[in-house]
Formats: sequence, structure tokens, C-alpha cells
Amino acid sequence: MQKEDNLKEIISHAKEYGFVFPSSEIYDGLSATYDYGQLGAELKNNIKTYWWKSMVQMHDNIVGIDSAIFMHPTTWKASGHVDAFNDPLIDNKDSKKRYRADVLIEDHIEKIRQKIDKEVEKGLKRFGEAFNEEEFRATNPNVLRNATKITEIEDRMRETLEKEDLEGVYNLIVDLEIACPLSGSKNWTEVRQFNLMFSTELGSVSGESAKIYLRPETAQGIFVNFLNVQKTGRMKVPFGIAQIGKAFRNEIVARQFIFRMREFEQMEMQFFVRPGEELKWYEYWKDVRINWHKKLNLGEQNYRFHDHIKLAHYANAASDIEFDFPMGFKELEGIHSRTDFDLKQHEEFSGKKLQYFDPEINENYVPFVIETSIGLDRMFLAVLSSSYKTEQLENDSERVVLSIPHALAPYKAAIMPLTKKDGLPEKAREIMDVLKYDFNCQYDEKDSPGKRYRRQDAIGTPFCIMVDHQTMEDDTVTIRDRDTMEQDRVAIADLHRIIDSKVSMTSLLK
Ligand code: ATP
Repeated sequence: MQKEDNLKEIISHAKEYGFVFPSSEIYDGLSATYDYGQLGAELKNNIKTYWWKSMVQMHDNIVGIDSAIFMHPTTWKASGHVDAFNDPLIDNKDSKKRYRADVLIEDHIEKIRQKIDKEVEKGLKRFGEAFNEEEFRATNPNVLRNATKITEIEDRMRETLEKEDLEGVYNLIVDLEIACPLSGSKNWTEVRQFNLMFSTELGSVSGESAKIYLRPETAQGIFVNFLNVQKTGRMKVPFGIAQIGKAFRNEIVARQFIFRMREFEQMEMQFFVRPGEELKWYEYWKDVRINWHKKLNLGEQNYRFHDHIKLAHYANAASDIEFDFPMGFKELEGIHSRTDFDLKQHEEFSGKKLQYFDPEINENYVPFVIETSIGLDRMFLAVLSSSYKTEQLENDSERVVLSIPHALAPYKAAIMPLTKKDGLPEKAREIMDVLKYDFNCQYDEKDSPGKRYRRQDAIGTPFCIMVDHQTMEDDTVTIRDRDTMEQDRVAIADLHRIIDSKVSMTSLLK
């Protein structure tokens, strides 16, 4: 299946089963805004819990806060967002489509990279077992030529973007003969800067003085509370402050479902360290974060690190964890060494000291910061897209199954009476009343067992518990496993233990 078709299928599956709806759909929706339905909200909450527990509960030097979306407008002057939170945009005159100029160039680079990969594949086929990939990459003329091309383009891109040389960015697009993916035309407008922050007015006064912004990142709510938390929590450097919350960006190109939205949710953690130790902690957090992802078993091959070539104005090192989404490898999480930029800027703009007295070295300093920042919605898409599978069954039928990691699944078990009579529904309700305190369960009595199993597979429920006539005699039920489709007969008294051993988050956190 084509990857793009795969995305379409996932979008329609997500809608059909109550995971994600287009926002205000009865009014034809609002672009790049989505609502999470009854199952989407559960999955989202479970992802949040996994993140929060592993960051906050598992680290005694990390605490979590919940700061306001609205902040004093000077915050965004200090952070650099008023002046520098811009994307370079370019329009195609024929298709009238708007693009981010840097994304057009990056997509072009990705195509060259794919050519290299193809060349390597050919080499592997030709030389078989004797193939030495490292040597091949270092010596094959086609690979080398394309690798040089990539470096040249990246260098030019970095230079022009850093200098905000918009004409230079335009020239690069023209020189590379980049065409509009939609129309194939190379008829471009000039490149312009576009600020991504949404603004609104505070109270009833309008005008510049009342202008405030919807936060474009949750991080600044952490920085302005740095001393509040450090003092009241008696935190010692190194320590971290975590937060989950909404962020807003007026994205130029907002397509690709929940991957790029104008209102989205971030899970961010700022880790405050001694100056000079930041790169050690940067490596540490890269490691911790990739392991957090890999624990979910969504497929090792789906992840790669991508080091930034254009560093943000505040960073001295930055890397993305990219995930192989249906649209290809794209950023899922960023790990940034933000230096002491933010705290220093807030010191300057507020006139308040934001320093830490380090008793071990008897010194006052502004700590350096390592940030881990993951988009909750992108994480949701990563889970959904890698879990969505169509399987051929033995009897020539097909099933769609969401093999969502057990701990994240919206429902952990579906409790089903085989028929609606002979006291079976009442017995099923009794079981549900015991399990519901610890597991989100669904009671399901409509349709044939086969249809009910398919429905639970399609929403990713790990276990189906069937109450039948034998249950009434010996207090046993069948329990069906979503992934293997195997059924076991077990005692009702054992259900809690069996389910807990598979769905508990503990194994992910250990
Ligand atoms: P991109 O390059 O894709 O625009 P970014 O580098 O601007 O992303 P950051 O500022 O590093 O993103 O934000 C941290 C995280 O927030 C990203 O890794 C991503 O998961 C998430 N994120 C950023 N923008 C959006 C968006 N418009 N919709 C959904 N998630 C987003």
C-alpha cells in the first residue's frame, strides 16, 4: 500500500471508531484543528500518563507544573518569539499553494538521500554477504557525489537562514530547480517571513498595550517559574521541571492530519544544570528519551536521530527524534541544549535575578538548560499509525487490528455475555463491577461474538472476556488475546491478575 493511502485509511479509521474528528465538523471543519473523540481522549490520557510517570514519578529530581496559557507579553519579547519566531514562506504562483521554504529544501535533500539509499541497496544486492556498507558509502562515486551535494545544500541553507537572507533562500530554491509538489511549476513568489504566534487582546481595551499571545510553547511557563519551583521545592541543580499543556502556532502549511496543527499539546521538560555540564546532560537525555520510545515496541526501525543544521537562536546543540510516520520520517520530539539563554533573557527583561546558589562549589550562577519537547498529538499519530494493521485470516476473511501497546490501549478489556439471556448479562456486569476500578472496561452485548471481537480488535482492546453457560456452572470465562486471537479458559478469580500483568504501565517504566 502507498504510504499516503495508508494515512487516508488511518484518518478514516480514527474517525469511524471515535478517536479523532475534524473540529466543528457540522460547519465543515476548521483547517488544521481536530477534536479527540471518546477513544482518542483515552489514548491521549494514557500517553500523557506514561510520559508524566516516567519523567516526574520516576525521577526524584524532576517535578511537574501546570502554568497558564496566557503570559505577560514581555515574556515573548524576552524569549525572542516576537522578533524571531518566524517561518520563511513562499507561494507557488500557479497552484496558489503556500510552503515553508526550508521544508521545500529539506524535502529536496531527502530525495537525494533516498537516491543514496537506493545505491546502497543495489550494492548489497550485487555483493551479497561480502558487502561492506561503510566502505561502499565512503568510496562509491555516485554516493559520494550525492553526499557532497547534500552537504553543499545544507551549508547554503544554514548560511542563508542564519543571516535571514531571504533572497538567498529564494535563489537556492531556484538553483535547485525545486518544483511545487502539487502543480510541478517552478513559478515562485519571493520568500517572506511570517510570525507564527497568535495574538489576542486582554480585557476590554484594544490596541498594542493590551496585546497578548497564545503561548507557542509551554517552556516559557517553566522558565518564569524557575525560582518559584526551585525555592519552594528545595530543588538542587541538576533538577527538572516538566509540564504538559496546549501550545498554539499559526502554521503556514498545516496539513497531514494531527501531525501539524494550529492548536496542539506539548509534553516538555526543562532540566537545569551547572554551566559547562550541559553537553553531558544533552547526551544523557537523548539516551533516556529514545529508550522511552523504544520501550513501546513500535518498531526499532521507525526511529532515527536527526541533528539540526540550523540551530535555533537559543541552542548550542539540538537533535530530533524522528519517527517513520505514514508521510515518511518526521520530527516527533526535540532534545535541545538551550544554554542559559532563556533565564538570562528573563533576568534582563524582568530585572529580577534568576540564579542558583550551588552549595557544592560555593557559586551563584544562571543554570544551563537541556530541554526535551515532544508533541503529544504526534506521539498519538506515531502510536496509531504503527499499530494499524490489516491482517489476512485463515478463513479468507480480513481483520483490522490496532496493536496499541497494552498499557496505552483505551479499553483494557471488553466484557461480553454470549447471549442476552439466562443470567449471562448479569454475570458479565458483576465481573465488570470488579474490574472497572482498576481497568477501563467496555461492556459489549450487541451482535454475534465474531463481530464483537472484530470491533474490539479495531479499537485495540487487548482482552475480550466471554461469559457463557459454563461460567454459570463453574465461574470460569474465556479470555481472548487481541494479538494472537487465542482463547483460554480461566477462573473469574484470576482475571484481575492476568489482565494486570499485561496492561500495567510498570513494565514500561522499569
Ligand atoms: P517542526 O519543525 O515540525 O515545525 P519544530 O521544530 O518547530 O517542529 P519544536 O518547536 O521543537 O517543533 O516543538 C517541539 C515539539 O512540538 C515537536 O517535536 C513536535 O512534536 C511538536 N509540535 C511542534 N509544532 C507542532 C504542530 N504544529 N502540531 C503538532 N505538534 C507540533
